[in-house]
Amino acid sequence: MAKYDAIFIGAGNSNLTCALRLVKSGKKVLILEKNNVPGGVATSFIRGRFEFDASLQELMEVGTEENPGVLYKLFQDLKIADQIRFFHVPTCYHIYVKNTDQEYVFPFGIRNFIDKMEEYVPKSRESVETFFHLALECRNALKYIEKKQANIRYEVLLNDYPQFIKIANSSVEEVLNAIEMPKKAQEILTAFWMYFASPIHTLSFVHFASVFYEYIATEIVIPKKRSHEISLTLAEEILKNGGRIQYLSPVQSILMENGQAIGVQLENEEKFYGNIIVSGVAPSLVYSQMIPKEYVPQKALQLINSRILGGRGFSIYLGLNQNANEIGLADYQYIIMDSLDSKREYENMNQITHSNIRVTVLNNANPSCSPKGTCILQFTSFFSGDGFDKIVTEENYFQLKEQIAKRMIESFENATDILIMPYIEEIEIATPVTFARYGNYLDGSIFGYKVTGLDNILPRLFNEANEIYIEHLQFSGSYGPNACGYAATYLAGDQLANRILSLEEGGKEHE
Ligand SMILES: Cc1cc2nc3c(=O)[nH]c(=O)nc-3n(C[C@H](O)[C@H](O)[C@H](O)COP(=O)(O)OP(=O)(O)OC[C@H]3O[C@@H](n4cnc5c(N)ncnc54)[C@H](O)[C@@H]3O)c2cc1C
Repeated sequence: MAKYDAIFIGAGNSNLTCALRLVKSGKKVLILEKNNVPGGVATSFIRGRFEFDASLQELMEVGTEENPGVLYKLFQDLKIADQIRFFHVPTCYHIYVKNTDQEYVFPFGIRNFIDKMEEYVPKSRESVETFFHLALECRNALKYIEKKQANIRYEVLLNDYPQFIKIANSSVEEVLNAIEMPKKAQEILTAFWMYFASPIHTLSFVHFASVFYEYIATEIVIPKKRSHEISLTLAEEILKNGGRIQYLSPVQSILMENGQAIGVQLENEEKFYGNIIVSGVAPSLVYSQMIPKEYVPQKALQLINSRILGGRGFSIYLGLNQNANEIGLADYQYIIMDSLDSKREYENMNQITHSNIRVTVLNNANPSCSPKGTCILQFTSFFSGDGFDKIVTEENYFQLKEQIAKRMIESFENATDILIMPYIEEIEIATPVTFARYGNYLDGSIFGYKVTGLDNILPRLFNEANEIYIEHLQFSGSYGPNACGYAATYLAGDQLANRILSLEEGGKEHE
């Protein structure tokens, strides 16, 4: 019976990256994926004459060839960077607050952002500058922690990142109040909270600030042929290097022996054995459905019961039979909010009536993404609790999702004064049910576990080794310590591979 060095459950971003690193180090790997294509939600689909990305609106940490970000360096190191063509996202975001005249347009670049905020909120400059200084320190401290993993030296943290140490445990709201940022500037700057599906009084400052810094300071990109281009490139490289990927192979259970994971069994009862099993499926699902009860340690159950699922995804994909500019869609990204109060909106987002949405116009970064005289729009939103689940039934599902989508599209039109409804040629709507079915996301929760309060990325990173409750079973992807996001999951996959390799070599650290 073939025995693999590593068996991966799922071909999402994180597992593909981890598997590629391992095959390049001579390991024998097998990826088992339930769908017929790689990438998980990093994929695309076609409706009529449009190709929609299922998820990606912005890719961070790529930078430029001259000034590469960590992700680009990783792709270079894996020898795939030159196979993917990136387009730079030209403009940052345009915020509209519904039923008010509040409208804010921000450019990329720290200096530009600070100047713009000063225009909107006079006397905000000093506090916004302080915010970015702190954000940079947090970003660098996190990079140090991620790189050193088990070998973190606390004196380095204390000496090199003293502000980080002081605020490591604080929420976004606590730090912005402490640096006396004017309320209005706080509200505008934190409209980005939607990306984390966590309101600012519980969202970790370190997490928010380091991602936001990256977003504003470095170039944001999208791949020319949608996120599927990256997924496919990774998958092809794995095959070229001798790895094996088996599609249409849903893993049903993890095989156990003497309390250790030794393999997996597919729904068709086929079995595979490996030295290490890497699950891209949520620990909540694995411990509750894929491992016999008697093997699940109490601590693992405590962990999954204490973690909260992130937002449940709702997306609308539109192909319009009009040129974006002709109908007034000049920006790449629009953020429409019912109000700028994140606590209130997070609660409201449990109702299906909310209309807090991010909308991207793909053509404004990738002009040739759809036929001449057309454009592609992607709406992304979420429900913060079980509001959708409580209302949806088998009978009302199609009507309900269309009703929610219609309200969101109308909200966009009302807020921006840009008419899009008459130009819709293709529409597809993804609900929490779609995400649950396609990616096996528990309750359709697309953000992994909520990163909130004391359960934020810092304790998760520090505690990672203690969260391995079953020998030879590791978790990857959005449910890992880096949380969700493209860059986060690719990088997490690489970190996991290095950890696996270093374990084999008796703990020697890989740079
Ligand atoms: C609508 C939407 C928009 C987003 N926009 C952005 C964005 O603009 N920028 C950004 O950085 N991030 C964005 N994200 C987040 C990002 O897409 C995810 O965090 C990332 O793709 C998750 O990668 P992963 O490694 O966790 O794998 P996943 O994508 O979760 O893949 C898991 C894989 O496992 C497979 N699988 C599940 N169960 C089994 C089983 N039993 N057997 C075999 N295979 C199984 C699934 O089919 C899937 O292929 C978005 C996500 C969504 C849903």
